[in-house]
Amino acid sequence: MQRVLRVAAAAAARLAGAPRWGPAAAATVRWLSGGRESMSYDVVIVGAGPAGLAAAIRLKQLCRAADTDLSVCVLEKGSEVGAHVLSGNVFEPRALDELIPKWRQEDTPIRVPVSSDKFWLLTKNKAWTLPSPFDNKGNYVISLSQLVRWMATKAEELGVEVYPGFAASEILYDENQIVTGVATNDVGIAKDGSKRETFQPGVELRGRMTLLAEGCRGSLSEKIIRNHKLRESGQGQHQTYALGIKEVS
Ligand SMILES: Cc1cc2nc3c(=O)[nH]c(=O)nc-3n(C[C@H](O)[C@H](O)[C@H](O)COP(=O)(O)OP(=O)(O)OC[C@H]3O[C@@H](n4cnc5c(N)ncnc54)[C@H](O)[C@@H]3O)c2cc1C
Repeated sequence: MQRVLRVAAAAAARLAGAPRWGPAAAATVRWLSGGRESMSYDVVIVGAGPAGLAAAIRLKQLCRAADTDLSVCVLEKGSEVGAHVLSGNVFEPRALDELIPKWRQEDTPIRVPVSSDKFWLLTKNKAWTLPSPFDNKGNYVISLSQLVRWMATKAEELGVEVYPGFAASEILYDENQIVTGVATNDVGIAKDGSKRETFQPGVELRGRMTLLAEGCRGSLSEKIIRNHKLRESGQGQHQTYALGIKEVS
């Protein structure tokens, strides 16, 4: 996760260094002919996990430092921020030290320092103690969902608009195949395709920049990776997997 926070902050820095597009205003809203609402932002971020929220916070910090502003929104498909972030977590605070240097003076959900590490090899009948490969001195045991909730309040304090309950389901392109934002699903459609009484059209969130922070195997990220053959390019990152068991107590 340390890496996730760093990558997100670096992406935000690159975005903030990109050419300005005029003064940030509150998102502009317009209605399209299909009944879909369209809202325009400077930056649309998909996913309110540590990466998306760190990027949003860093963008707004850089804006403040440069005495400018960008309108930034974060879409989260969970019913509330943190609802889809389930991990009990051993948290290394270096990246947060850089992002929010005074976090220790605030009422954060980061309260329990790691006191010891144990590493066991489990067989059917025995548990063998092995020398621990971990060094968690200075780290904390946290609930990651509580951490992202706190990060969302920090983002909102800086002027980021955070929208839980909205799953981005479509990437929007312009006529030159440049990504121009995302759209959420229509809801309230019957199996036969007709509109129920509860029908609500999806919303278009147009961004001059769109940042996908969906976590691993995000559905929109996979589409972009496929469309642009990113895994086949020289810089493509391949996903690797491992299986283990962790108890955080
Ligand atoms: C079981 C487990 C244990 C772990 N333990 C540790 C640990 O101890 N220490 C550690 O440092 N790391 C740990 N990790 C890794 C850590 O959780 C991840 O590195 C980190 O959560 C990645 O952050 P992220 O923001 O990239 O993605 P995520 O945390 O996955 O956040 C992505 C967010 O985007 C939302 N989203 C996805 N798609 C869409 C969409 N289309 N529209 C709207 N919203 C969307 C999701 O609902 C989610 O809230 C663990 C992971 C797991 C699964």
